[in-house]
Amino acid sequence: MGEQDVYDVIIVGGGPAGLAAGLYTSRDRYRTLILDKNGLPGGQIMLTEHIENYPGYQRITGPDLIENMKAQVLTFGAELKVNQAVTGLARQDDGVLAVDVNDGEQTHLAHAVILSPGSEYRQLGAPGEDEMRQATRVSYCATCDGAFYRDKHVLVIGGGNTAVEDTIYLATRFTKKITMIHRRMEFRAQKVLVEELYETAKTHSIDIKLPYVLDAIVPNADKSDIDHVLLRNVETDQTEPLAVDGVFVFVGMVPNTGFLRGAVEMNEAGYIACDCTTLKTSMPGVFVAGDCRQRAAMQLATACADGVVAAMMLKDYFRDPSSWSATMAEDGIAER
Ligand SMILES: Cc1cc2nc3c(=O)[nH]c(=O)nc-3n(C[C@H](O)[C@H](O)[C@H](O)COP(=O)(O)OP(=O)(O)OC[C@H]3O[C@@H](n4cnc5c(N)ncnc54)[C@H](O)[C@@H]3O)c2cc1C
Repeated sequence: MGEQDVYDVIIVGGGPAGLAAGLYTSRDRYRTLILDKNGLPGGQIMLTEHIENYPGYQRITGPDLIENMKAQVLTFGAELKVNQAVTGLARQDDGVLAVDVNDGEQTHLAHAVILSPGSEYRQLGAPGEDEMRQATRVSYCATCDGAFYRDKHVLVIGGGNTAVEDTIYLATRFTKKITMIHRRMEFRAQKVLVEELYETAKTHSIDIKLPYVLDAIVPNADKSDIDHVLLRNVETDQTEPLAVDGVFVFVGMVPNTGFLRGAVEMNEAGYIACDCTTLKTSMPGVFVAGDCRQRAAMQLATACADGVVAAMMLKDYFRDPSSWSATMAEDGIAER
């Protein structure tokens, strides 16, 4: 393969972080290839019709925003290839990075890589969950969707830090009532947060039911709203219906990083380890951006910001590739 076949940069994932990175790299005239495993790129934000917290738009749908981002990045000459699931990443002896696609079907080469495969909200798999998610009545993100539930009654599911923190957030800012369920008698969240939750429940309407699970979300006749949810007491096995306007599921997130195991360093949960200022990973020439990295804010605007930072830092790397190990050593992430 000749030098002309080596891209300047390959971006893994065509979500907001990847598209923002591609905008900057291609506008800087770096030969850029963006790979997305889906036929329709755009990432998680494609799943929502209501974005109200992306600067510059009072309200926009996910698909409309992504269409704009895609058109903009293509204007500057980036190549976007779909149905390209990246399945491996390795650094060759000559320093060129080899990106395997669809289990070795093809290998693309580049001098630098930006990893932006994102993450996914863990779903419960309850009947009606997917249907009502599509009807925007099931959410996995309080910051994204809390404002849509002003003076409403919502069900919150989960027992970890996010579930407890976001229940307090929703109750003190938006909702009329929250019913919160957790499958165990004890919350997994830090004690101090649990204390704050019970304290908040004294002044705001929060009904905490333990140990309960969600058995089903039952849509109304035209499937536009939730008619009721079915809750089950794990100890007695009794089910009970509850009318709510929305459901928030806070049972964790899963980063899409399995294919990178052994290639770049990750934390226990599978988020890619990085220097959070430069977004460098443990592999020289490989940057990370967006929801797949450690300590990500998990928002659209911050994913885009990460893409921009990675693209800017990549220029420094191209100017002086030898600077990589020095920086990584300071951050305590071993170079592979
Ligand atoms: C329903 C919903 C509503 C939301 N609403 C808001 C909101 O209102 N405001 C807000 O700020 N945030 C919102 N978010 C969060 C926001 O969507 C994410 O923070 C953001 O999309 C993260 O961008 P990303 O590019 O890091 O990752 P992602 O959006 O997850 O994109 C990753 C991309 O990488 C691709 N990919 C994954 N693995 C591979 C692979 N191996 N090879 C190639 N490609 C791969 C995926 O197909 C995907 O296109 C919402 C999320 C959801 C699910």
